[in-house]
Amino acid sequence: MSHVFPRHTRNLPPVAVSGEGCYLTDASGKQYLDASGGAAVSCLGHGDHEVIDAIKAQLDSLAYAHTGFLTSEPAETLADLLIEHAPGDLDRVYLVSGGSEAVEAALKLARQYYVERGEPERGRIIARKQSYHGNTIGALSAGGNEWRRAQFAPLLLDISHINPCYEYRLMHDGETPEEYGLRAANLLEEELLRVGPETVMAFIAEPVVGATSGALTAAPGYFKRIREICDQYGVLLILDEVMCGMGRTGALFACTQEGVNPDILCIAKGLGGGYQPIGAMLCTAQIYQAIQDGTGFFQHGHTYLGHPTAAAAGVAVVSAVLGRDLLSNVQRQGDKLRSALNAAFGQHPNVGDIRGRGLFMGVEMVADRSTKAPFDPTLGIAAKIKKHAFENGLICYPMSGTIDGRTGDHVLLAPPFIITDAQIDELVEKLGKSIMQALG
Ligand code: PMP
Repeated sequence: MSHVFPRHTRNLPPVAVSGEGCYLTDASGKQYLDASGGAAVSCLGHGDHEVIDAIKAQLDSLAYAHTGFLTSEPAETLADLLIEHAPGDLDRVYLVSGGSEAVEAALKLARQYYVERGEPERGRIIARKQSYHGNTIGALSAGGNEWRRAQFAPLLLDISHINPCYEYRLMHDGETPEEYGLRAANLLEEELLRVGPETVMAFIAEPVVGATSGALTAAPGYFKRIREICDQYGVLLILDEVMCGMGRTGALFACTQEGVNPDILCIAKGLGGGYQPIGAMLCTAQIYQAIQDGTGFFQHGHTYLGHPTAAAAGVAVVSAVLGRDLLSNVQRQGDKLRSALNAAFGQHPNVGDIRGRGLFMGVEMVADRSTKAPFDPTLGIAAKIKKHAFENGLICYPMSGTIDGRTGDHVLLAPPFIITDAQIDELVEKLGKSIMQALG
């Protein structure tokens, strides 16, 4: 009998025993094409020997040292590597164990920054509906997915959630994407004025929304206008690239594709590629300096900050992404995946939108293409697609999200950066079959 606490307590999943490239194998010998890299984690695929050897070498020299006493060579190297490629004034790296921890650190750093600056009235956060920032209480409070939040409502922080930038559902007829991008961004200004800008410390958003929205990219100009508004009202811009960052969209940092620099940036998932649990929060020199000039101590911390073995994995993964020119692969194979999805489902009566960037693509399902009416949530279309795909040997990431009472089912695809043409064909073929089976 298993004593593992599985995600779904009513059914124990198969036991994964090995992974090679884009495939995972379970204990029965069944192979799965890992078309979502778990949850956009396995950017290099499985069994990458360079990364494995780097981890082994680190374990041989130093597995762990507590950052309350010491820093370590891999942590220093990883921070240098990230800052070398990071956009704007990002200058400092706080290494944690995952995405939720990166977001918690970001929220607390934003708060401490304003306390140190003598603006303690700034304590409010503005976030977006249908977003996901993690499952710890602060990160869950920032997230805007109603289903994930519902049970825990009494525990959550009071955070404002404005509408996301969601062209497919929220752009008006006759509006251009640029006009819509501006209108969607101006919702931040409206909310700031409603709550009092002097009480707000930060706005947090995913540059490309992942888990809750299926690779939802912003309309042109949206993030530029968001940056302007944040600057105008002295509000920090926190970008959460836990899912869309580290090369997933074809650039190491997705915000560079929007031409926008954040004050604080959160990354994880593809930073360790699944070889070690690791995340990071990056902040500007200005924020760091305020702490330095103030108490000189960021009042936060976890036992595994800057974990040397995890950091060594991060160095090996980021070096592989850059050294093997995998960003070009992401762009090229991303274009192929988009074309293949469009060819297979572009005219499908139950596919409303195919979207995304790089190897981060989403397919939104609808009951009626002409009205964009979503499926009845009780049909559980996303869950059915996941189940059939799994039976067909395909791991993808179907979810349903709620916005203003309308549920949209979607499938998120985030395959390893090394995916081949033949594997893209296999992915689309298996996904098509699974969608057909789910629709009955
Ligand atoms: N932010 C975003 C955008 C995410 O997609 C996720 C994970 N899906 C998180 C934060 C939380 O990361 P973790 O699960 O590593 O805590």
